[in-house]
Amino acid sequence: MVKSKSTRYIFITGGVVSSLGKGIAAASIGMLLKARGYHVTIMKMDPYINVDPGTLSPYQHGEVYVTDDGAETDLDLGHYERFIGTDMTKKNNATTGQIYYTVITRERRGDYLGKTVQVIPHITNEIKQRILAVGESDANYDVVLVEIGGTVGDIESLPFLEATRQFIQDIGPQNVMTIHLTLLPYLQTSGEMKTKPTQHSVMKMREIGLQPDMLLCRTAIPLAKEERDKIALFCSIPQEMVIEARDCDSIYQVPLNFEEQSVGNKVVNRLGLVQHEPDLSGWRDFVRKIENPSAFVRIAICGKYTHLKDSYKSIIESFVHAGVENNAKVELKWLDAEKLELNGAERYLRDVHGLLIPGGFGERGIEGKIKAIRYARENNMPFFGICLGLQCAVIEFARHICSINDANSTEFDPTTKNPVIDLMETQVKVVEKGGTMRLGAYRCLLQKETRAFDAFKKPEISERHRHRYEFNNSYLQQLTTNGLIISGKNPETGLVEMIELRDHPWFVGVQFHPELKSRALNAHPLFREFVKAAIDGKNELHDNKLMDESDEDSND
Ligand code: GLN
Repeated sequence: MVKSKSTRYIFITGGVVSSLGKGIAAASIGMLLKARGYHVTIMKMDPYINVDPGTLSPYQHGEVYVTDDGAETDLDLGHYERFIGTDMTKKNNATTGQIYYTVITRERRGDYLGKTVQVIPHITNEIKQRILAVGESDANYDVVLVEIGGTVGDIESLPFLEATRQFIQDIGPQNVMTIHLTLLPYLQTSGEMKTKPTQHSVMKMREIGLQPDMLLCRTAIPLAKEERDKIALFCSIPQEMVIEARDCDSIYQVPLNFEEQSVGNKVVNRLGLVQHEPDLSGWRDFVRKIENPSAFVRIAICGKYTHLKDSYKSIIESFVHAGVENNAKVELKWLDAEKLELNGAERYLRDVHGLLIPGGFGERGIEGKIKAIRYARENNMPFFGICLGLQCAVIEFARHICSINDANSTEFDPTTKNPVIDLMETQVKVVEKGGTMRLGAYRCLLQKETRAFDAFKKPEISERHRHRYEFNNSYLQQLTTNGLIISGKNPETGLVEMIELRDHPWFVGVQFHPELKSRALNAHPLFREFVKAAIDGKNELHDNKLMDESDEDSND
């Protein structure tokens, strides 16, 4: 590792519209610094008042990401981990709600000795303090990137921007860089790229005392010299710091596009760090493989939030990583579980090579998921159940193999006589929502000679969790006697972490969320093996079909 004298900070703000990809931009710059040997982490400041995203609907805010230390966080932390490989912690995400909560709790305790408690300095101090806490942690980071959620000009993000202004003063402008992500809309009718919204967005930043050092300009078409000059002039930014951020097919291409414009070197220079040749060979290879797959496979994802893909962000990315390791393109077919409930599974699953049931909450669509699992089990289709997916697979097995016809989870039927899935003992008295599930990393011991062991190739793993219900161990005997294999267990509590079936090409359920630990250059072993099984199954199907065809020939 290269060690610098003091931690440097990069603030990333967004302008014009939301959803420009600030998270990916931050992750990409972090990755370029990491490729130069710097020790990097990334923080996300979320301007909403919720104390954490754990209680937000996936429809509103996409997936809830979970860290090893059990924080329920914004999904951008997933991008950070996938791009830079550094494990995030509770400290890497802060919301307005958390910041006010801390300040108000202090005020109630009398810590402010009767002073008037105000946005400046109390809220801004708390924001600065949280940023410094990451920079000054034992991890000894060379660079901390801070992504400020929302769009410049929003009322909610003002305290964060004000804190940024103060922070730059406190630790010296030479140690801090501000990068602004903006949009250059293209007007089809006049055939023109427009720079005005960017000018206004930078003006808005200046109003609060912030001058960006670099602009990342999202655009659908190339950024011509004329526009670049104009932006540089109006925004007081050196021309070489106006960077084109062209739309691209894969988010993993973004850091390479930045690198082509020497963004890494420019950032290193601006922060007064030592230049090092970046090692991007692994990343380039990874992107090349995404673009040139040699096989193709189609996986169905049957869930409840399928029309909002952000709800399954980490799963989608895990398939990209696993696809690369198998040299395959994984196409995802999204299935609304309620439709399967009505129409049966066959018509939706006959053209796919694998089925994944993701995590979820509540009763809606459950019977559709159970139908899908039954189809996969009976038709030798590779199946991967995650969290709720495991729970549905256990119910399906209990009902159709063990003849416990009314088997259910108490989450869906609180009065069921056969709760094969039940509320965890530790959850019975929990009434508060938010941060109260079984969260974060727990150990899991693997049974030898199982799919689980084959995938991980070691006896113990650690995976992340987010659930309240569990496999009910009073049914363990009955289910295992009928052939269910318990391939992973938590050693402290005996909680079932993994199940599988023997006489099936690949049928695995996990109580944890493997998608939270898949990395761009290090696919999760279970996703890798699931995709492999789907490819093998497809090839076998193809071979069988060829054989059938030749049989027909010989019959002629
Ligand atoms: N609703 C289930 C539980 O709480 C599953 C949770 C999940 O899939 N994340 O246990």
